[in-house]
Amino acid sequence: KGKRAFIAGVADDNGYGWAIAKALAAAGAQILVGTWVPALNIFESSLRRGKFDESRVLPDGSLMEITKVYPLDAVFDNPEDVPEDIKTNKRYAGSSKWTVQEVAESVKEDFGTIDILVHSLANGPEVTKPLLETSRNGYLAALSASSYSYVSLLKHFLPIMNPGGSSISLTYIASEKIIPGYGGGMSSAKAALESDTRVLAFEAGRKRKIRVNTISAGPLRSRAAKAIGFIDMMIDYSIANAPLQKELSADEVGNSAAFLASPLASAITGTVLYVDNGLNAMGVGV
Ligand code: NAD
Repeated sequence: KGKRAFIAGVADDNGYGWAIAKALAAAGAQILVGTWVPALNIFESSLRRGKFDESRVLPDGSLMEITKVYPLDAVFDNPEDVPEDIKTNKRYAGSSKWTVQEVAESVKEDFGTIDILVHSLANGPEVTKPLLETSRNGYLAALSASSYSYVSLLKHFLPIMNPGGSSISLTYIASEKIIPGYGGGMSSAKAALESDTRVLAFEAGRKRKIRVNTISAGPLRSRAAKAIGFIDMMIDYSIANAPLQKELSADEVGNSAAFLASPLASAITGTVLYVDNGLNAMGVGV
């Protein structure tokens, strides 16, 4: 009777996706992950070589098992969408069936159904540029990778999600308050993701009794966050100003995701849950 989870956006042991996988595994779920195609080889070989073994330890002392790793590029919905230069790219040619539709089909073939869908991925090629200097292509790429990727994942996985299931994404407060440095249209992408959380909660709730929520997480020194360039400052700012003056651990977000995915949250859908030591509630820094 254990639940099965598909977590999109795990490529190392530093990010929120990994921590969510661990919290779900600790609660007894079977773990499937979707890993960005260009990061797949390093992730799989590191897993095999035991590089993540220390981070795989669960509270009961056992090691988290990842039942299967699927290559995924959430920017493409089906093979017809994939341009020639990507198809023939060395990093992509070695893998197959990595568009969203094909991954959902593979999971269906391999396991039949899932109960929990997690979207823990984002990408904004111009994230270091202010919005006023962001190109149309950069802005649309941020929305495609960080917002529509979620609509597409839920659309393709919904038919294989068991009623009562739960879907979770990760957002950031830059969607609603000014966070200089979170550029390239990424603030816009998170605003779209949060709005879509409400609309998708309605549609998936009515269609298949699936709950849809998003976690507005505080700052974490993940690979993606380091690429933005201001993560240490944001962590220091939070410790100085939040109601809870401690560094946020990825596990705290993982545990919140496990709660949202569990029957304890059976009436919670369409919400943005802040897991940020309370920083969102502050009006001024003190
Ligand atoms: P991360 O680097 O661990 O995760 C991002 C993942 O997205 C990576 O594994 C990357 O390979 C993957 N990815 C990028 N483009 C992809 C694509 N086209 N298809 C499939 N996968 C793709 O970093 P993270 O910070 O843990 O990010 C996870 C989520 O948490 C993101 O939505 C991020 O915006 C959100 N978040 C992060 C912070 C933070 O401070 N780190 C704060 C709030 C929200």
